[in-house]
Amino acid sequence: MTTAKPVDSYKHQGLRKLLVQNIKQKGITDQQVLTALETVPRHFFFDSSFLEYAYEDKPFPIGAGQTISQPFTVAFQTELLQIRKNDKVLEIGTGSGYQACILAEMGAKVFTIERQKTLFDRTSKFLHVVGYPTIKTFFGDGYKGLPAFAPFDKMIVTAAAPYVPDALLEQLRPGGILVIPVGANDVQTMTTFIRNPDNSFTKKEYGAFRFVPMLEDKAKDTQTL
Ligand code: SAH
Repeated sequence: MTTAKPVDSYKHQGLRKLLVQNIKQKGITDQQVLTALETVPRHFFFDSSFLEYAYEDKPFPIGAGQTISQPFTVAFQTELLQIRKNDKVLEIGTGSGYQACILAEMGAKVFTIERQKTLFDRTSKFLHVVGYPTIKTFFGDGYKGLPAFAPFDKMIVTAAAPYVPDALLEQLRPGGILVIPVGANDVQTMTTFIRNPDNSFTKKEYGAFRFVPMLEDKAKDTQTL
């Protein structure tokens, strides 16, 4: 990862088109999601020695023991969010920043939290370099949500949650959607919670996915939200 804006070549654009076709074949139908995946250069989020892996439909290590999610998983979670322009969206697990850029590209106002200081510092700077300066990054523990900016229209957790944090449900606007992979073991169940106007929640489950763990109370520094 460099401090200069990386180059997006015709070759990369062609590879993105193929990736998007592949993801479409796997069942993603929301054109807005597919367009965002075709627009955001995923190779920007890779170290220059690993560019060839950027357009495979696979997760990839991004340092600090973390991964950039598989493109299909990004598309699947984003589709479940039903993003509308100007939606206020909270992401837990900034990681490389790729998912946040997909959301911003779709017109969402993105707030994103990361608990690894190294990743937080690196990605916060990098989002400016690659042209997404409106994404607001926060260092801290995603289990607490972001009460100062609540309520949110949509929330997306991009790490494996052993349980659904109450704080996230509380910070969801009525009519809002939380997308969260739930499970304490190797495999998680993609789950959505829709907050009803009477403040009850409707829960739905969608298949198995694998994420790195969502860790609690371990934001790695003295700096807080
Ligand atoms: N959305 C990312 C991928 C995230 S990988 C992308 O597009 O690249 C999961 C991320 O969640 C990791 O960076 C990990 O450090 C972070 N994470 C884990 N537990 C967390 C917590 N409690 N609060 C905030 N971030 C957390």
